[in-house]
Amino acid sequence: MNEHDSERISGLLMAEGMVPTEDVESADVVVLNTCCIRENADNRLYGNLGHLRTLKQRKPWLQIAVAGCLAQKDKELIREKADHVDVVFGTFNVHRAPELLRLAQSEGPQVEVWDGPGTDSDDPYGFEIRPARESGHQAWVTIQVGCNNSCSFCIVPSVRGPEASKPFQRVVDEVSELARQGVIEVTLLGQNVNSYGRDITLSLRTANPDSFDVALAGERWARDPARRPRPLFADLLRAVGSVEGIRRVRFTSPHPKDLLHETIEAMAETPAVCEQLHLPLQSGSDRVLAEMRRGYTASRYLERLAEARRRISDLAVTTDIIVGFPGESDADFEETLEVVAEAEFDSAYTFEFSPRPNTRAAEMHDRFVDPAKVSERFLRLKQVVDRSALIKHRARIGRLEEVLVEGRSRRDGSLVGRTRQGKLVHLRDAELPAGSLANVLVTDAGAHHLVGEIVEEIERPRRARLGVVAG
Ligand code: SF4
Repeated sequence: MNEHDSERISGLLMAEGMVPTEDVESADVVVLNTCCIRENADNRLYGNLGHLRTLKQRKPWLQIAVAGCLAQKDKELIREKADHVDVVFGTFNVHRAPELLRLAQSEGPQVEVWDGPGTDSDDPYGFEIRPARESGHQAWVTIQVGCNNSCSFCIVPSVRGPEASKPFQRVVDEVSELARQGVIEVTLLGQNVNSYGRDITLSLRTANPDSFDVALAGERWARDPARRPRPLFADLLRAVGSVEGIRRVRFTSPHPKDLLHETIEAMAETPAVCEQLHLPLQSGSDRVLAEMRRGYTASRYLERLAEARRRISDLAVTTDIIVGFPGESDADFEETLEVVAEAEFDSAYTFEFSPRPNTRAAEMHDRFVDPAKVSERFLRLKQVVDRSALIKHRARIGRLEEVLVEGRSRRDGSLVGRTRQGKLVHLRDAELPAGSLANVLVTDAGAHHLVGEIVEEIERPRRARLGVVAG
């Protein structure tokens, strides 16, 4: 989501005539778009600003802007710590970036962080901002901003506000436009995609129980005589998955407590929806899950997972896990290991707990787990995850997989792509443009990747790059 926000900021600035550069030394404007999900983001921001201070001493006309969650959280503090920053803007006024940069040139430093969506705008959530997309064949599409949950470790609700969904038809139109431009894979983005549209149907029902607004809530909801307030994510998956030209639909992230039967059915019945599910577990201990305020138990999580695997064949499942949540005992951690082993994840993003300001978990100082113990648990968890990932990946050796070519690996220069399950594949001795689809024979596997040989080309990209449209 943060990377997509960077694309949106780039889109706004490119519409003003700026051109992107990979070389920071040659830039006239540098925007640091921050994420404060984890603690080290703060350290990285001020480290980067330290380097930019030297650059600005050599290039006094250089403008430096700080955006994103950390700007939303720290506001004036950023300029107090780094007075060479020209502009600070938050998550609710991204659209103001070009104007603030202009004002900073004529009037000096600008700090403008809104506490919520603008009330005087037709587009309070910035849904109309046109991103400058890096890829011509893959695109992120925001379907929802904010979050109505209150996980005790998470800073997102305080820096992104409550959930707001992009109108249904707006999402479908955006995906249709992307398909016309050559995009074949879209990833739908939201903090809790499963609850997409609940706010829309609730407000439609409250304002007018007989509402028949297809554009806001989609045809399936509008034609349902009951028109009860409910999430629309399953309807959206079906609608986006049937857009002509879209070969792959992914989404991130669903919340386990809201993973509805209808969503699993929509995934199973919509061929374009990839066989991939990122379902954040966070902990395998019911006691810790309750303290995290996650709203499910380990067994409930495993039941949902089992249902998804029953309905969607060859489903790859990934997850997020936090190690060392305050008060996590050895027994709690053992329970996490047991659930992780039972779930047989394809991979997991594992994190050591880091306290975030204004969260309940940050106040549990007296129960913080000894850092040495957290590191030891982290390594043990990684071993369990890597073991199941390796088994899963090795089981794919000898199979034919449809791979979407992404380009050259920065690490070793080999051509890389992804299967429908989202698995990274290194393609040996291959030459195909990014955006091509090919059938690939898997010849080897590691815990984090596959290796393969192209057997046949399926299709080449229809267009290499997207243009940025101003206005
Ligand atoms: S669901 Fe929980 S972890 Fe995810 S963004 Fe919302 S509060 Fe944060």
